[in-house]
Amino acid sequence: MNKLFLVGFVFLSTLVNAQLKVTDWMSKTGPLFPHSAIIEGDTEIGIVDVQQSKSEALRLIADVLEKGKEVKWIYVTHPHLDHFAGANYFKIFFPKAKFYSIQGANEEMTYQVKTRRLPLGQGTPGGANNLPEEAPNYFLTVKDNEILKINGQNVEIFAGKGDHPLSSIVWVPSAKTIIAGDVIFNQIHAFFGDHNDIDAWIKLVERANEKKPEVVVAAHSKTANPSGTIVEEQLQWLKDLKKAMGENDTWQYVKSELTKKYPTWGNDFIFEFSYGVRKK
Ligand SMILES: [Zn+2]
Repeated sequence: MNKLFLVGFVFLSTLVNAQLKVTDWMSKTGPLFPHSAIIEGDTEIGIVDVQQSKSEALRLIADVLEKGKEVKWIYVTHPHLDHFAGANYFKIFFPKAKFYSIQGANEEMTYQVKTRRLPLGQGTPGGANNLPEEAPNYFLTVKDNEILKINGQNVEIFAGKGDHPLSSIVWVPSAKTIIAGDVIFNQIHAFFGDHNDIDAWIKLVERANEKKPEVVVAAHSKTANPSGTIVEEQLQWLKDLKKAMGENDTWQYVKSELTKKYPTWGNDFIFEFSYGVRKK
């Protein structure tokens, strides 16, 4: 093998095997403190979930701009306000980026802005004025198992149910990282008021578990980059939730069972809230 060929071969194989870097991006303000993720290749970037308030969307945009790379796409894991509402600002700053989410997301985003923007504004710094007025309606549909690319590397989408019936997770094989949206939480009691199909939710968490991720970016977590062990914890929590609901389907009982078993987990108000908005 001549020297030039060898150098070329090494250079090419580094390009092919180049790992994507995933940054767990934490918002600074409540009430929900959602996390986003920045997936970075050598020259391209993908962003997963785009924050709820205008101020947090702008902070995330500022951090992405300072990387000086091309934003190729923006992916929203599910149509809850704390994950998609900042999208319109990303469209202004990254006009060439494609916007993706799962089937039915555009319609659901319109519904969420109409019905939940004002109630959620109450806990947001700056109130409803800090929440986008217009729902985005330009998301392209990505199907289950579809692959998006960053610098030629795969980023896989698994669709199913999480805390919203139209949910998904993102698998970045080269970084052994799952970006879990609101399918896997980290030591936080999950919202479960939007559907009753806990079995389908468990199925999607099991698909994450099969990948044996080293890191899971959870959208609701007190810390950044929790280890893959939170996948098993979420599975157990969901099984415990299903069991308690089967025994006595009231928020008081379910809350007492789950907080007994998970006394240090955050958001224990979510049981009453979930039952309050539950679609019968
Ligand atoms: Zn969320």
